[in-house]
Order: sequence, then structure tokens, then C-alpha cells
Amino acid sequence: MNRPTAYKCMFALLCSIAMVSNIQAKTLDVKQESQFNERVKKIQANRNNEKVLSELLPIVHCSFKPSKYEQILIAQLRDTQTSTERFRLVSEKVGELLVNKVIECMPTTTVEVETPLTLCQGQALSSKVELVSVMRSGDALLDTFIKHFPDAGVSKFLVQRDENTAEAQFKYMKISPELASGNQVVITEPMIATGGSLEMVLSILKEKGVKEENIIVASVCVAPEGLVRLSQKFPKIKVVMTSLDERLNERKYIVPGLGDFGDRFFGTAEHQVAKLETR
Ligand code: URA
Repeated sequence: MNRPTAYKCMFALLCSIAMVSNIQAKTLDVKQESQFNERVKKIQANRNNEKVLSELLPIVHCSFKPSKYEQILIAQLRDTQTSTERFRLVSEKVGELLVNKVIECMPTTTVEVETPLTLCQGQALSSKVELVSVMRSGDALLDTFIKHFPDAGVSKFLVQRDENTAEAQFKYMKISPELASGNQVVITEPMIATGGSLEMVLSILKEKGVKEENIIVASVCVAPEGLVRLSQKFPKIKVVMTSLDERLNERKYIVPGLGDFGDRFFGTAEHQVAKLETR
């Protein structure tokens, strides 16, 4: 075989290898997508079945059924008639309940304390806590968490979602020096919709040396789609939340949801701005 013919054969061979691997990758994508959709549908069909839900979503470490008090609070957060002032107050109460759920996920040690009457045994957290806020809405829960973990280091991430594509875009981070020291790392992220922003933050945390099993995500409203994505990619994290909502709409907002948490909390929702402008 002369040289040009050999080159042509080599080129044809490389093209067919590329084509086959492209087809294989596409088949895998389609298979993964259909598995993903199946799992989301199963969760939606079993929204009131605690046992099935915990089998499908082992990363969730709290009850799937909100308490009566949580149901009252979340109804106020959802209501468009709720003022910014009230929204902030209710968010704080929801945040307090999330702190309680987060602590349920943390290791504790038995300690001896002396009461005015006798010695007795009690519990204390085994390690320090690191807080991670995914701005802007993560900041809405941050003060409440800082109140309960006053010596925690605080790391901040700004990941914005593109309003047209709903894709997460990394903008900024400032990381605490003790983030990867083996402490419990709590991420405040009020809304888990597609899970895209969290996926980005979790990947960075892992790159920085944080162990997946030390991460707890505290969220208010979550969509099945986001939870499935996180359980597939980070099966060892723990998630606690107030409400498992129904689904995402075509704009990737959580339904029934409460709209944009950051906008509602910081008073920048369009209907609020319009109200201010007509005053
Ligand atoms: N972020 C929000 O604040 N709300 C949603 O519904 C989805 C993402």
C-alpha cells in the first residue's frame, strides 16, 4: 500500500471509531435520561409514601412529611400576599427548624455536666461546623445558622442561574481556611430546583478536600428533579428540607414553590418592585 492510501485508510478508521464512540455515548445519555425521568416519576407518584420515598432518596435525612407547624409556615412563604417583612420573619422560623434537622444528622459525644443538684450526662457536637452559603438566597438562612453555630467559619459562593437556560454559572467564591478540616459542612440553599448550582458548589467543595459524607444541605423547598440529580452525583451527602414539592415548570421554577426565594426575601420580586414604584 502506498503512503497516501495508507493515510486515507487510517483517516477512515479513526472516523469510524469516533462515530461508534459518539453513538455509544449518545445511547448511554438516552439510557441515563430515561432512568432519571423514571425515578422522578416514581417520586411524584409516591409523594405521600414515606417508606418508598426514603428508599428512592437515601440522601434525605429527615421526614418527607412537614410537621403541622412547618405546613403553616410554608403556606405563608408561598402566599404572594405575604409582605417582605413577614416573609423574613417566617424564613427565620423555618431556618430554626432546619437547624434542628441539621443537628439530627451530626455526630455527638456524651459529656458530663454538673447541674445545681447533681452530675448528669448530656450531649455535645463532636466537631466544629463550617457554613457554606450559596448566594443570594443562601444568605437568607445564614444569620439563623450563625446564631446557632457562632464559631463556624463561613464560606460564600455566588453561582447564578441563567434565566433563559436555567444553567448554573460560577461567579465568585471566598472559602474559609478550615473548610476541609474534617468538620461538618452545612450548605444553606433554600431552593433545590434542578440542583445545578448545588452540583457546581459540591464539586468545588470536593476538589478542595471536603468529604462528601461531612456535607449537609439545608433547604426549604426541593423539587424531585434536583434531589434525583444530587443523589446520582453525590450519594453520600445528607439533605434536610421543609417541603418536597411536586415538580419543576418549563422555566425550571419549583411548583407549587414560592417563586424566587432571594427576590421574596430581599424585596426585589417584580410585583414588590412594581408596588413600590406606584406608591
Ligand atoms: N430558585 C428559586 O428561588 N425558586 C425556584 O422556584 C427555583 C430556583
